[in-house]
Amino acid sequence: EDFYRQLPKVELHAHLNGSVSFQTIEKLSRRKPHLNIERSMTAIGKGQRRSLDECFEVFKVIHQLVDAEEEILMVATDVIKEFAADGVKYLELRSTPREEKNTGLTKRLYVETILKAIQQCKKEEVDIDVRFLVAIDRRNGAEVAMETVKLAEEYMLSSDGLVVGLDLSGDPTVGHGKDLLPALQKAKNCGLKLSLHLSEVPSQLEETDLLLSLPPDRIGHGTFLHPEVGGSQNLVDKVVQNNIPLELCLTSNVKGQTVPCYSNHHFKYWYQLGHPCVICTDDKGVFSTDLSQEYQLAASTFSLSREAVWTLSQQAIDCIFAPDAVKQQLRQKWADVQSQVS
Ligand code: 5GP
Repeated sequence: EDFYRQLPKVELHAHLNGSVSFQTIEKLSRRKPHLNIERSMTAIGKGQRRSLDECFEVFKVIHQLVDAEEEILMVATDVIKEFAADGVKYLELRSTPREEKNTGLTKRLYVETILKAIQQCKKEEVDIDVRFLVAIDRRNGAEVAMETVKLAEEYMLSSDGLVVGLDLSGDPTVGHGKDLLPALQKAKNCGLKLSLHLSEVPSQLEETDLLLSLPPDRIGHGTFLHPEVGGSQNLVDKVVQNNIPLELCLTSNVKGQTVPCYSNHHFKYWYQLGHPCVICTDDKGVFSTDLSQEYQLAASTFSLSREAVWTLSQQAIDCIFAPDAVKQQLRQKWADVQSQVS
């Protein structure tokens, strides 16, 4: 619907390789016909669901399609332009630096290629401000996490403000946050902002409690934090006292089956508390969605008025990792659009 597409939006939780559109996957598949890629291998269609494990298998397929410099450049450029076309005015992309021996890809080249895509889009005057979060895949353990933090720090200092923070993601059933704490602490101390996937699955209460002590600057998902789903009041209190915004991805959680249906999504709990919630896509390609659709789903599921939807998108500005001057620019942009509509 036009209202949602025209609504200016902020996207704060988007994994690069999960955001690849079907059109881009087709371009990539043509370059690598031997992989025999079918649609169901890279995207979960309407009404379909997978277990979280199966979702992680999808990323492995996409990583095979995207393993060289020019493919990363293509994917990042396409994804940025698609978000812009959907009315996203500010985007924080996140991605895990990968090394691929057979294509000569290094982690440095990986990061630099994404930064290049951001700069190219800026040069072409695509109407979107894009920043980058360097991601740690928890599966790779403490040593890689520490290396990643060093890499992120280096680019934070040299990228003209494009690298703003760090993400912790990857299969939540693998590894323990306590091993990653020193790396995350170091990141925080050097000025990187932290967005951590927390309590994405049940049974992470102890880890979540530990990582909340940092505290992180934003939380990804936080599906099982609250007592109604086996979390605890203590965890909720910590999140509320530290005023840590939540990045909430409705379709991702429903299709990945950590939430039984849209109306049971924890958006309801946190929104009713008046806690800062930011609607995000997570993986718009894999979950066949876009940010306009996610806002529309939130509105229809929880009976939000257009005014409430507008406020929701505007308040996301307060949660971005870029500096205050950027927040001011965005607030102005929202005000300009609002005066045009009314
Ligand atoms: P990339 O970092 O390669 O650009 O994007 C894909 C990666 O993002 C996955 O391999 C995984 O580490 C992470 N990721 C994407 N979606 C999710 C999600 O829903 N939950 C978690 N924990 N990690 C995710």
